[in-house]
Amino acid sequence: PLTGSYMQFDGKGIYAEVLRTGKPVFINDYQNWEDRLVNDFTCGMTSAMQVPLNIEGKTVGSVGLAAFAEKIIMDEEKMAVFEQFAAVAAIAIKNALYHQQTNHLALHDTLTGLPNRAYLNRHLEEELERARRGQSAGAVMFIDLDDLKTVNDHFGHTSGDSVIIAAGNDIVSAAGDNAFVARVGGDEFVIILPGTDNEERIAPVADRLVGAIRREYEVRGKRIHMSTSIGVTLYPEDGVIAEEILKNSDIAMYAAKAAGKNCWRFYEQGMQQEDYEKMVLTNSLRHALENEELYLLYQPLIALDRKTVVGFEALLRWSSREHGMISPARFIPLAEQSGLILSIGKWVFAEACRFARKLADMGKENIRVAVNVSPCQLATADFSEMVRDSIEEANIRSQQIEVEITENVLIESLEESTRKLVELSAIGVQLSLDDFGTGFSSLTYLRNLPVTTLKIDKSFINEMLRDKVQEGFIRSIIDMAHVLSLNVVAEGVETEPQLSKLVQFGCDCVQGYVYSRPISQEDAIRFLLTPILSKERF
Ligand code: C2E
Ligand code: MG
Ligand code: MG
Repeated sequence: PLTGSYMQFDGKGIYAEVLRTGKPVFINDYQNWEDRLVNDFTCGMTSAMQVPLNIEGKTVGSVGLAAFAEKIIMDEEKMAVFEQFAAVAAIAIKNALYHQQTNHLALHDTLTGLPNRAYLNRHLEEELERARRGQSAGAVMFIDLDDLKTVNDHFGHTSGDSVIIAAGNDIVSAAGDNAFVARVGGDEFVIILPGTDNEERIAPVADRLVGAIRREYEVRGKRIHMSTSIGVTLYPEDGVIAEEILKNSDIAMYAAKAAGKNCWRFYEQGMQQEDYEKMVLTNSLRHALENEELYLLYQPLIALDRKTVVGFEALLRWSSREHGMISPARFIPLAEQSGLILSIGKWVFAEACRFARKLADMGKENIRVAVNVSPCQLATADFSEMVRDSIEEANIRSQQIEVEITENVLIESLEESTRKLVELSAIGVQLSLDDFGTGFSSLTYLRNLPVTTLKIDKSFINEMLRDKVQEGFIRSIIDMAHVLSLNVVAEGVETEPQLSKLVQFGCDCVQGYVYSRPISQEDAIRFLLTPILSKERF
């Protein structure tokens, strides 16, 4: 159909008249017709006729007959034949349009208009067929927007949808003209990038994609910072089976998430193994509490001015029957991801409070016990209640317990967390900021939170004697903390030279192998009762 408006022809000519009136028109002396259209086509036209093509009551075009050299008389009879023909043509066109639309619907995502999973599968299969014949190579990228759930939760699904649409556009332009971009799930996109499976040529595209999404999206007047994680699989290098390629890209995407998000990873064979091990360990961890495989060690905190023990940090250990000793760096993230940290963390508090009770019974109720807290623990509604219950249960003074949080605890829900920490501080619980200097350190946190202690991360202490900048950094942290009336603990102090530097800088406390490794309850008590200067190393 010549869909158009009669205005297109300045209202001149037969077609314009059909479109305007929706009625058949015939002209037998075209050259003398006052509304004739003058152009190369009509210049030799003697007579002509057109009948409207109507679809759903709308004139969308016409069917016509024109005579040039010899004259053909146009009349009602000829017109009737053409009208029948136009009716049949209209039905055929309508069917074709309908098929086009349903096909589009079946193969495209309604939100972004991008190809959907069905289309992706079809396209990928065709592409891989070419690769199997050695006629193509390329990359498949699995893209997942980071933390879209948070956007949905905070700003509503409509805002989430706007971000998805905008991100989809960014992905399409960053991926380039050659790429096939599909949306395959809520916040998931897949790109097929034919051309090359050369890592060095794929990497810049992945960089560009991560960079394109790492920006602020404006949604209903609010600025939302987004980022994305991407997994990349190469074909035919990593495989030529669609299902496998998509699965491996997904695995690589999870590896990118695990590496801290806002980045991309090539698929590597070991990745699956890693995931499998995590799953197995997590399953064992589920039974660790009831099997009594968990216990706490205590590492002394020494005040530098008096060279006395002022507290202990409770550090969790897992001695698994099946897997042996597993380090906290390995199992705590698993406990966090699986939610097991909530029950484990509760046990840690109860156990640490029992230790504090023992100390109090020895008349050492001024010795603090510090407990590490994960972000997800602090996020639970009953966090302060849980801490209070453990303290009451053990019947100790709240001042004896110190809660250690890291800065990233606060990023997620600053207000909520602050409220809970203020609540705890009000009953006397001490609060320290752990691993200081490694996260998004902000003075605002320090001013608004009831923090009493800063713990300088051991990575700074490691570098202290080798690197002047690091040394200056430590000195400034200590000075700044003192301006804010905070206590400073240096963590991971291993050597005497480090110790004397810290004394020189006015650091309040140290914790580290130079005095003691984390030790059992019994050893901790013995350590406490021995004067520091005569201590053999623990
Ligand atoms: P963290 O809270 O920063 O604990 C200090 C870590 O530094 C401990 O590692 C400790 O053993 C280690 N350390 C202390 N002094 C030295 C030293 O002189 N040299 C060296 N190389 N290391 C030293 P650990 O026990 O492996 O714990 C690692 C992390 O696991 C802790 O870091 C903490 O974030 C987390 N964690 C431990 N127990 C718990 C717990 O009960 N709950 C939660 N949520 N996290 C825990
Ligand atoms: Mg700690
Ligand atoms: Mg620390």
